[in-house]
Amino acid sequence: MKNITFKFKNLGDMYKNLDLSQIDSNKSLVQIFSGLCKKKEIVQIQNILKERYPYLNYIGSTTSGEIYEGVTTENEIIISILNFEHTTTQYFYAKEESDFQTGVCLANTLFKENTKAMILFIDGLDSNGNDIIDGISSVNSNIPIAGGLAGDNGDFKETFVFDKNNIYKKGVVAVALNSDKLNVFTDYQLNWQPIGHTMTVTKAKKNHLYELNHTPASEVYKKYLGEKIGNNLPFSATEFPLLKLHDESDFQVCRTFINKFDDGSLITIGNLEEGDKVRFAFGNVDLILNNTKKNILEYENFEPEVIYTYSCTARKAFLQSQIDIELNPLNTIAPTYGFFTYGEVFHKNNKNSLLNVSLTILAFSEKTNKINTKSKKKIIDEKLEKNIISNKHYLVLDALTNLSNKVIEELEEVHKKLKEEANKDYLTNLYNKRYFDEVSHNLIEIAKRQNSPISVIMIDIDFFKNINDTYGHIVGDEVIKNIASLLIKNTRKSDIVSRFGGEEFAILLPNTNKKDAKEIAEKLRNIIEEHIIILENTKEIKLTISLGVCQMNLKCDENISKVIDNADIALYQAKKQGRNKVIIN
Ligand code: GH3
Ligand code: MG
Ligand code: MG
Repeated sequence: MKNITFKFKNLGDMYKNLDLSQIDSNKSLVQIFSGLCKKKEIVQIQNILKERYPYLNYIGSTTSGEIYEGVTTENEIIISILNFEHTTTQYFYAKEESDFQTGVCLANTLFKENTKAMILFIDGLDSNGNDIIDGISSVNSNIPIAGGLAGDNGDFKETFVFDKNNIYKKGVVAVALNSDKLNVFTDYQLNWQPIGHTMTVTKAKKNHLYELNHTPASEVYKKYLGEKIGNNLPFSATEFPLLKLHDESDFQVCRTFINKFDDGSLITIGNLEEGDKVRFAFGNVDLILNNTKKNILEYENFEPEVIYTYSCTARKAFLQSQIDIELNPLNTIAPTYGFFTYGEVFHKNNKNSLLNVSLTILAFSEKTNKINTKSKKKIIDEKLEKNIISNKHYLVLDALTNLSNKVIEELEEVHKKLKEEANKDYLTNLYNKRYFDEVSHNLIEIAKRQNSPISVIMIDIDFFKNINDTYGHIVGDEVIKNIASLLIKNTRKSDIVSRFGGEEFAILLPNTNKKDAKEIAEKLRNIIEEHIIILENTKEIKLTISLGVCQMNLKCDENISKVIDNADIALYQAKKQGRNKVIIN
């Protein structure tokens, strides 16, 4: 393949210096990254191209910065042409009724048997990129897709994508690469570090985020990141996106915002779902540096002939003059071009996603027999060393992150302990009545859903006053503890054994009908009757318990206190009938 890429400082420069004589249109991948974002400027770009080479197809996007040979530029025009040897290209524009349908249409039109990749540029503000990608995946998620959402130099006012015929404020321009020989490699880098506590998305609809932890999203930003950020949303949060916490198999996904409403809700690039766990995140320069080094070695093995990179505007905003520390090294492996986006299209392991804040990489090679070139590791190391951050700012940031995360960790531990203690009875360490009520509510809901029985056993020690009178309260307490541990030892883990107060206990038995509950009660009665409590300075103590059993009637919507009352009536009967007895109600 042959890479012919031009960089122009303005339209006059482009008019003067563009030479397209060597291009084979059918085998060309042509991408235009235009830092000139006005409609009339794009019309001029189209006209110059039409004049020079009317057959040339291309996809173009307005940008928030361009990447030329691993270096960031701004307000320039990059025309990147890749002339393949064994790959043909097919171009298409799509916009359907819904964004999902647009994705379906793209995939149906462009995906062929030998399609090796598809590059798409989506407008940055009007389409839901997530839905488009979902649409594509619904047809086929095995073909790598790449590209990004158009930018407009961080103004977030109007973005365009374009092809040889038109300019589009909404929709997708795409090109499919069809080949038997093309090797495609994709990857992404994030290296944004979470900071602060974990929050839950409690109200969201697609890319509209209403609430985090039941509080309007922008209030949450204001509360934790301060007034300066809180009052200048959505763009003030570009450097502090939300990081979606994921299971190990997934990619790390960040979400930034492009709009804010009066009710405090925010429009994200890419969707969030209710129940998603998120944290604030910011760029960690150390991580970026170290991982760039590590990844470069991996990319080198692929021996790309060219690298395209679609990197997020938020990355550029955060890293500012340091942005090239992760772009320069790519160019040491293969010429690297791309642009800064409002969202990145990504594919790995047969899964497509819309990312944010990431640097995505799409690399090509048509070579079949790869010759091992000498390692470029040394050059990369030198490049990275030169860029080592001398700015103390990052050191301070790193320390503050550590401080905040440690404090949160400690608070969470204290909170967990307090919560546990609030659920426990101090004397016996059994659950208390408060927890019994809370957990029974949940277990009853499960029982109703699964249509499985649930029962309660109420227990009261017989003639306990005698123990206190004979041995004193302290011994009385020890006896209560002994009985509690016998109850725990002889019930299932799933049973909720609690002390209701005094020498009264209640056991909630999920998945148990009254016949089985009676058997369990009988077993407990017998164990305690047989048991001999031996305490210091006392004789052997023997005692008995009375038990009342009741199964909950799930059909007539009983609540837990009704079941407890019924079990209590049975317990009263057991006392009346001479104690050391089990009665069912
Ligand atoms: P029965 O239940 O068989 O009718 O007789 P009882 O003597 O056990 O009577 P009841 O259950 O009504 O009384 C419980 C007594 O337990 C009253 C109180 O002195 C004692 N008690 C309640 N809570 C505690 C406690 O935490 N520690 C000690 N040591 N005694 C307690
Ligand atoms: Mg009693
Ligand atoms: Mg009692």
